Amino acid sequence: MAQIKNVGVYTSGGDAPGMNAAIRAVVRTALYYNLEVTGIRRGYEGMINGDFLTMDRKSVGNIIQRGGTILKTARSEHFKTAEGRKLAYENLKKRGIDALVAIGGDGTFTGAKVFGKEYNFPIVGLPGTIDNDLLGTDYTIGYDTAINTVIDAVDKIRDTAESHDRLFIVEVMGRDSGLIALRTGIAAGAEAILIPETKTDLNALYHKLEQGRKDKSSKIVIVAEGEEAGGAFEIGKLIKDRFPNYDTRVSVLGHIQRGGRPSCQDRVLASRVGVAAVEALLKGHHNEMIGVINGEISYTPFESAIKHNTEINPALLKIVDILSL
Ligand code: ATP
Repeated sequence: MAQIKNVGVYTSGGDAPGMNAAIRAVVRTALYYNLEVTGIRRGYEGMINGDFLTMDRKSVGNIIQRGGTILKTARSEHFKTAEGRKLAYENLKKRGIDALVAIGGDGTFTGAKVFGKEYNFPIVGLPGTIDNDLLGTDYTIGYDTAINTVIDAVDKIRDTAESHDRLFIVEVMGRDSGLIALRTGIAAGAEAILIPETKTDLNALYHKLEQGRKDKSSKIVIVAEGEEAGGAFEIGKLIKDRFPNYDTRVSVLGHIQRGGRPSCQDRVLASRVGVAAVEALLKGHHNEMIGVINGEISYTPFESAIKHNTEINPALLKIVDILSL
């Protein structure tokens, strides 16, 4: 295997708090091992357009605490074509980049897997997504910050819900995954959570709301974006039809869940996997996502990592049920 001299780093797909901490870790570790390091702006789009910048230790100064990504991110349809990937390869070669660290979610790793195989290019990935839906890591970078943002918002909603005796349907992110809804539902003391992984039993929900209504003035139901019965507005409409005398409101938290200062946990996770990624490349790893399982660094082939983590712990669902009595 050829010796690695210049590592390219990019963020791609949806942004997540902690991506900057990951970029910083990759850059500083590469410099520590006397490698050059090149930032690629806007993910695969930047690769195709040759949008590169040389990173030094100062270029990642004062970013560990910042949300978003200084390298910007994008979605690239062009990279899904063989012609787009050829342009990307030619640009990388021209620039002397001989290994890559991809920071993103399942789409990013799917692209990395295809490209890595096509051009025999060494790539490792860091799990950067608020959804926590990748296999091969207990947590993804951004998830902890996002769930803390959600509970801050729901605590505020609860104040107004309580004052007005309102029922709030709160929609959180998660097109395919209910993991944000499940955790925040427990932490915010929701009456119920509705998630894509389980069939929504509307009658059970109505029953619960009816029972609880007798001695509870406010209520919170957390709904994941991709919930199978149709999302927060649809659920809100059904509840209004069923209980016209309830003061029911829908609140969609939206993009605030992606922003903000990364939590301590996300910064530490990003730093750990960022260091491990460069070390893994130097040891000859490629086509793998670097994660942390039970406190230890783990290496998972891209093709396994992208198989969605759809496992919902039934014990957690039961906790929501018991504690919302
Ligand atoms: P998140 O889950 O947080 O949104 P993500 O990494 O899954 O992040 P996507 O938009 O799904 O985000 O993917 C990012 C990019 O990866 C796509 O815009 C595309 O350029 C590339 N990509 C995805 N699938 C493929 C594929 N089959 N072949 C080549 N490139 C791909």
